[in-house]
Amino acid sequence: MKRIYFDHSATTPVDREVAELMLEYMTDKFGNPSSVHAFGRETRKAVEEAREKVAALINATPNEIFFTSGGTEGDNLALKGVAFANRKKGNHIITTAIEHHAILHTCEYLEKHGFTVTYLPVDENAMLRMEDLKNAITDQTILISVMFANNEVGTIQPIKEIGQLAKEKGIYFHTDAVQAVGSCPIDVKELNIDLLSMSGHKFYASKGVGALYIRRGVKIEEIQHGGGHERNLRAGTENVPGIVGLGKAAEIAKRDMEKKNAYIKGLRDKVIATIMEKIPHVKLNGHPDLRLPGNVNFSFLYIEGESLLLNLDMKGIAASSGSACTSGSLDPSHVLLAMGLTHEVAHGSLRVTLGRGNTEEDINYFLEILPEIVEKLRSMSPLYGSAAELKPSNPCSSCHHH
Ligand SMILES: *Cc1c(COP(=O)(O)O)cnc(C)c1O
Repeated sequence: MKRIYFDHSATTPVDREVAELMLEYMTDKFGNPSSVHAFGRETRKAVEEAREKVAALINATPNEIFFTSGGTEGDNLALKGVAFANRKKGNHIITTAIEHHAILHTCEYLEKHGFTVTYLPVDENAMLRMEDLKNAITDQTILISVMFANNEVGTIQPIKEIGQLAKEKGIYFHTDAVQAVGSCPIDVKELNIDLLSMSGHKFYASKGVGALYIRRGVKIEEIQHGGGHERNLRAGTENVPGIVGLGKAAEIAKRDMEKKNAYIKGLRDKVIATIMEKIPHVKLNGHPDLRLPGNVNFSFLYIEGESLLLNLDMKGIAASSGSACTSGSLDPSHVLLAMGLTHEVAHGSLRVTLGRGNTEEDINYFLEILPEIVEKLRSMSPLYGSAAELKPSNPCSSCHHH
């Protein structure tokens, strides 16, 4: 059976060109960049070239780029590093309720260590309201962390306005841009971003590598101790193959972004329009326009996203749902709940995230079988049929945690 991958927000395949380069730096060019001999100088040079390429993608300078093990580490380093280095100035951090767990759980950790965190609500499109942000700022606020684009519903936040406000108030601004890098043009200077996290495996580099941009002058301290790597901020021998691959992926992303986005957006718009046209009782989640080029997120009323996912998987299609099927429970997504969706509607959500390897043929196949699956599941649903006009009621039976 043909397999179709529609889960690019979870991870992307490594670009062939990137993988070939990585292989070279695992086999022939394997020196430790800290070594003074020729083997070491060779990989040092490659690491520094990768730093230039990553910097160029977001209009930073190379010495503002610090390589990490990925998005999670970048988020941890940004939040803990800035919080601990600036605690004399204040103990208040502002973030949003729809961040990735790498941010939310780090904030919870900081709350246990004397910091106060405000989790801002969002509107029905998952958009932050600038008014709420303004009102949350106190004389204790040292850091604002707002994601560039949401990983579940694709909504792109007003980053420029946030950066401007943070700058005026003298507060550091971090953005988790893991979903945006490679998909949105980013200029950290124009947007007044002080810190930005990115992750290789979300834009065709490998898993286990990423970078944190830290504007020159930001006060931050290390959270991992050891050798003096990455200018004393991130100890540990550099992941040379990963880093070299990240540089190559950044170069490709910059070169192809416009063309790639236009292509993916075309597919996405067809998916959205066809679902709205062919399937009744659906709701598009996320902002209608200000969303990632490859993101489609729908709630299909009266059915469960998990069943939809399994049925699609049986047909070879890999997508994702808004329920985190971890620890044996099916908690609906904190993002969808923050947008005001009821538990039922949140449970019926399906995320399809397109990538550059997807074809028109892939989406035609998907759009052909999706209505059949939805109809089949609805015909089996006790909530559908006679109850089709009923509004979904709370609480729902399938959530175990309330
Ligand atoms: C994937 C993701 C992360 C985590 O990145 P890893 O490299 O997998 O640790 C953080 N934030 C967002 C928004 C993500 O999508």
